[in-house]
Amino acid sequence: MLKVYNSLTRRKTDVIPVNEDGVVRMYTCGPTVYYYAHIGNLRSYLFMDFLRRVLKFNSYKLLGVMNITDVGHLTSDEDTGDDKMEVSAKKENKSVYEIAQHYTDFFMKDCARLNIDMPEHVVKATDHIKEMIEIVVGLQEKGYAYEISDGIYFDTSKFPDYGYLSGQTDKQAGARIEVNEEKRNPEDFALWKKVSENHLMKWESPWGLGCPGWHIECSAMSLKYLGDHFDIHTGGIDHLPVHHENEIAQNDCYIGRRVVETWMHGEFLQVDGGKMGKSLGNLYTIDELIERGYSPLDYRYFCLNTHYHKKLNFTFDGLSAAKTALARLRALVNSNKNVKRELTAEEIAKLTQYNIDFTSAINDDLNLPLALGTLWNMLKELPKSEDVYELAIKMDSVFGLDLDKEIVIEAEEIPEEVIALAEQRKQARQNKDYALSDTLREQISALGYNIKDSATGYELTKK
Ligand code: AMP
Ligand code: ZN
Repeated sequence: MLKVYNSLTRRKTDVIPVNEDGVVRMYTCGPTVYYYAHIGNLRSYLFMDFLRRVLKFNSYKLLGVMNITDVGHLTSDEDTGDDKMEVSAKKENKSVYEIAQHYTDFFMKDCARLNIDMPEHVVKATDHIKEMIEIVVGLQEKGYAYEISDGIYFDTSKFPDYGYLSGQTDKQAGARIEVNEEKRNPEDFALWKKVSENHLMKWESPWGLGCPGWHIECSAMSLKYLGDHFDIHTGGIDHLPVHHENEIAQNDCYIGRRVVETWMHGEFLQVDGGKMGKSLGNLYTIDELIERGYSPLDYRYFCLNTHYHKKLNFTFDGLSAAKTALARLRALVNSNKNVKRELTAEEIAKLTQYNIDFTSAINDDLNLPLALGTLWNMLKELPKSEDVYELAIKMDSVFGLDLDKEIVIEAEEIPEEVIALAEQRKQARQNKDYALSDTLREQISALGYNIKDSATGYELTKK
């Protein structure tokens, strides 16, 4: 039985679908598409992917939803600052919709390159404004929301469980610097913000022109696609104290019951032991890792080595070690392919035990580092055989490392200058000008390449 850690109950709980159809319904807070996703953001989506794969390994039916935040996320996670999308649009001199499309496309590409199994529905906030307004109206009618001059706010004093998820029972003590004196309580948050004509993103509403708060988006999209009682909600750990606390308040007060049973949070990626940030110059993207000679799956392997509940420190040394390990693992798995060998009874018993150990590791709150160790041990201990290969590939349905793919060593991009010299040398040899041919070989060598004559002309290899 799969057990996962529930941030709400602070315990590991069995995953038992709450709806009669037996489908596990799961919502994931998606990206704010104002810039490229960095490898920290992507660690959070790898965590979602590991969970989806483990659920599927256990034969659960799955219905997943992820939002794309293309409006409403302010430069702080709270109610202050400008909308991140508008800031980016102004900076890049594009429309907010162009910005959203551009960075959404990149995000989807990164996820595909990382073998992330995407949710069944990936939906945009701006397509669900009507649903958001409906919830705000409902909350207002039930007395949980009130209007002030700049928007509609949630009255946190009406929800006794406010602060329960983060354990901040006395929210007042940690109250954020107050900027809005019209609010009834300092921790009340905006459901809907009134905006002026010159705002880039704005919609008609019962309260005039405005745009949604960030938290209401996730309530609207999860309730719409997953219904009013669903199983799992995931996100990065930074979402726990504000965003998810507010989502719970909105959901449970609007529906009148606990909507989400299990909340799961992925820990952060740090870089060189500290925070990541654009200003610190250590905010890497997948493209940057590729430029430095790593594959997206090297990064995936790197993340698999640490439990999702633990902080992970990114270094290029660590990524290099992951790259080497993945290449070895791939070679080891493939050396078992098509090896016809009858395993002895004792070996079969061991193989069965490895399968059991793997399953209990992944089912213990996704202990993938332990599961990966099990795969390594199996490959080292058992003799090469097709049976070992098959079990390794079955395990890879969770790891997602494409271990069944043939090892493709991508051809090194050879600089045009080197190719030009090689072509000249070919010509020289055809003209039997061996002195020129030797000079050209030396020039090629000075650029870091060896040249060998072959049946079709020549072969260049990096030294
Ligand atoms: P955002 O696009 O800012 O809404 O963030 C997208 C996701 O990335 C959220 O689930 C965040 O919790 C997560 N996230 C942001 N920074 C990191 C980090 N350094 N490590 C892991 N996850 C992160
Ligand atoms: Zn969310």
